[in-house]
Amino acid sequence: MSAENPKSTSDAALRLAAIRARMDVASGGRDAVLVAVSKTFGAADIVPLIDAGQRIFGENRVQEAQGKWPALKAQTPDIELHLIGPLQTNKLKAALALFDVIHTLDRESLAKALVAEREKGAVLPALFIQVNLGREAQKAGIEPEAADAFISHCRDDLSLPVIGLMCIPPADDNPVPYFQALSAMAARQGLTKLSMGMSADFEAALRAGATHVRIGSALFGTR
Ligand SMILES: *Cc1c(COP(=O)(O)O)cnc(C)c1O
Repeated sequence: MSAENPKSTSDAALRLAAIRARMDVASGGRDAVLVAVSKTFGAADIVPLIDAGQRIFGENRVQEAQGKWPALKAQTPDIELHLIGPLQTNKLKAALALFDVIHTLDRESLAKALVAEREKGAVLPALFIQVNLGREAQKAGIEPEAADAFISHCRDDLSLPVIGLMCIPPADDNPVPYFQALSAMAARQGLTKLSMGMSADFEAALRAGATHVRIGSALFGTR
């Protein structure tokens, strides 16, 4: 496909290199994971990034991901797919079949459903617990007051493979205090992974300790 469209492949390579360079500066050379958020984009936009070497992608809707990723994964088996949007329990089975990492464990009913799938033989993906640090009604995530207990419950009582915490700060606020709060919560819990930072604020997130940044528009263009 790159041979048919060399221009878009080299554009993708340049955008990718530019983001990686900015990540390196912001993180002080610490290795961080770039999750390329491909929601709303199709194979024509995704393949040039794969050709440029990107392997880790994020989607926010199970159904949309089901429509495009099985074919792309068949072509490039080492793709790692991350679910970064809210997960309804009725989509859990489909999500487990497709995603390698889930960033949005945020409630008891989903934790229970994950346990039930494991009991039926499913191998669970690595999980981030999403914390609604801004207490926004329209956003998913466990309330910050309940987060510590929920984290312990998931990890210690249910033995879920929780690796870290995820947040999406309120759009109109300075994100830095939210990033710092999530980082402190993870440290308190002995969790080493932090999924935070998007196109507009990933450098601030990396300076606050992000290990996973989720970048869409800066890589793919505006949606
Ligand atoms: C869309 C999305 C992103 C990427 O947003 P950009 O501003 O395009 O980089 C990151 N995280 C989540 C949860 C998203 O839904």
